[in-house]
Amino acid sequence: MGPFAHDDKITPVHVAALAGGVGAGKFLRGLVRAVPAERVTVVVNTGDDIRVHGLHVAPDLDSVTYWLAGVADRDRGWGRSGETFRATGELRALGAAGAWFGLGDLDLATHLFRTGLIDQGATLSEATAAIASRFGILARVLPMSDETVTTRLGVLDEAGRPLDLHFQEYWVRRGGRDRVKNVRFDGADRARAAPGVLESLAGADAVLFCPSNPIASIGPILAVPGVRDALARRRTSVAGVSPIVGGAPLRGMADRLLPAAGVEVSAAGVAEHYEGLLGGWVIDERDAAMAARIRVRGVRVAVTDSIMVDDGAAERLARVALRVAGAPA
Ligand code: GDP
Ligand code: CA
Repeated sequence: MGPFAHDDKITPVHVAALAGGVGAGKFLRGLVRAVPAERVTVVVNTGDDIRVHGLHVAPDLDSVTYWLAGVADRDRGWGRSGETFRATGELRALGAAGAWFGLGDLDLATHLFRTGLIDQGATLSEATAAIASRFGILARVLPMSDETVTTRLGVLDEAGRPLDLHFQEYWVRRGGRDRVKNVRFDGADRARAAPGVLESLAGADAVLFCPSNPIASIGPILAVPGVRDALARRRTSVAGVSPIVGGAPLRGMADRLLPAAGVEVSAAGVAEHYEGLLGGWVIDERDAAMAARIRVRGVRVAVTDSIMVDDGAAERLARVALRVAGAPA
């Protein structure tokens, strides 16, 4: 390339992204190909964090970290590729209370390290930065808050009995079999956004909602005081990618949580759920017929193939999202 050649990564935009786990991880791998990673700040859901065997486990922070580092298990979706589960097997044999939550042996090292840092006085943000740096991640990875916010579900079990469950008890321990009646984010009203979160949402050239579960992943982030206001104030350069394609999530339980929150399970339903926060919305070709319904709400709509089969597809999707957010891409 000559001195004046155009490098497609040179556009000096800063991007902030709201992220859950796997859908976000895949998307962010594409985003850091479209924008220099140093200019990307990822604000990650911590509502499904849980203490297991005394360890602070942060599933979405770890998914984002592992996907950005290229060490995620692409097929399983969570955890690290090439890991074993010998420690979890042994914990099950011991009858350990938390052994229903499978933790791979490499993943376990992350939780041991994080918990050690926190026990020595580090904040979750500081521990997260240390882990991201160990994995060579150039994007800034931030937990939504350093304080505990917990996603809990009011459900009815098979016999119609009401239960109050941690998100992970609902999804992992009980296999998502209960009927979800309501979702709440305990502690969110008292939580403060982690250092850098509100600043990055206000200061970025574009803010993107990753294709993440709108209730379980984006919901807790939006429940942190200040986040909604920060987005609403700059709404025209906020855009998102629909995690619902053809009337269903590609994976996960969004189809069970959205109705409990009174939201239609569709690309348009999710856009309406984010009303007032979005300037642009990316939907899949399969949902093209919904574009008009979203546009009448004053939201710009881009229609594209949104299935991230590989990093190239994720990069194309990220560029579409940046354009619909009004950022040069
Ligand atoms: P979790 O915490 O691992 O459940 O992850 P997220 O909340 O980030 O992701 C779950 C959502 O990602 C689901 O609603 C999926 O439909 C969505 N998702 C996963 N892969 C893709 C994809 O390739 N394209 C789109 N548009 N959505 C995806
Ligand atoms: Ca999650």
